[in-house]
Amino acid sequence: MAQVVDRAIFSAGPVFIIIAVGLVDMCVLAYYLIVFPYNHHLSLQESTFLGKLSMVFTILFTLYMVYCIHFHYYMSIRTRPGGMTNLDIEAGEDESTNHGLLEYEESAQYPKTCKKCHLPKPERAHHCSVCNACVLRFDHHCPWIHNCVGHYNHRYFVLFMTYMVLSAIYFVVFGWRPFIICLDILNPEWPYYFPRPLMAFAYILSICMGLALGALCAWHYYLVLTAQTTVEFYNNYYEKGVAKSQGEVFVNMYDFGYVENIRRFFNIGDKYPWYTVFYPIPVPPRGNGRYFDRCQEFYMLPAAQQEDTILANQAVQDLEDIKDL
Ligand SMILES: [Zn+2]
Ligand SMILES: [Zn+2]
Repeated sequence: MAQVVDRAIFSAGPVFIIIAVGLVDMCVLAYYLIVFPYNHHLSLQESTFLGKLSMVFTILFTLYMVYCIHFHYYMSIRTRPGGMTNLDIEAGEDESTNHGLLEYEESAQYPKTCKKCHLPKPERAHHCSVCNACVLRFDHHCPWIHNCVGHYNHRYFVLFMTYMVLSAIYFVVFGWRPFIICLDILNPEWPYYFPRPLMAFAYILSICMGLALGALCAWHYYLVLTAQTTVEFYNNYYEKGVAKSQGEVFVNMYDFGYVENIRRFFNIGDKYPWYTVFYPIPVPPRGNGRYFDRCQEFYMLPAAQQEDTILANQAVQDLEDIKDL
């Protein structure tokens, strides 16, 4: 039964993408054909310098937001999240990934093999039952991008959600008056090239998507700040409780503190300064997704506890994967 569901999710992937792009672009059209003319008709009539400047700025800003949404969505879909097959290794950004399999098998402290695809399973990798492959630093499978969210595309996925939420807020804030007008069906005056019912739908959709994606986006920022994946969160939560009951200190070995975690996730450094998060450009993740630095607190734990932590993290890799809908 689970396999049937997985196949259905995989087969429906392109349909999800078409629906998502269709809905986003409908809201974009509603903005340019109704919200923008409504908010700027006074500026055009008065034709003051400030009015024109505000129009140009608004057009450029909204085009930038629309482009960022489409760019990060495209990159989330097209970027392979990272796996252990030859194709994934050749596609890797990091030179060391060319020898990924060999290197992993030779030097992993606790080598692990996937029970399903029988390939080496590096730390934080997880087998996705929908894609039927292991994915590096797996977060979850998302049918809306017809892809897994993993090491190589998690950054794009988070930025896509960020721009979606900001744009939804923008649309709701500046579109509420046209929305009220379009609901007033007793008033026949509707001077726009966009149907009234669709405007109402686009506005309500923006509120719903803004709230739903806002919650998901906030959740992912929490995970980024605390250096966890969705799968790891549940295990860490459990381990934290166990450690507390035994009077021990729980340490997430990948947690370097909020600021450093953010820098590592967005690959902020000399090559990609902080402001590159605002650039719609391809930025690879830090590292090859097979090995991850461990924090100082982890190395200060007794050797036995370090081993327990590593083995507990490995046990999580065998749990069922997570699919969002
Ligand atoms: Zn696998
Ligand atoms: Zn997947």
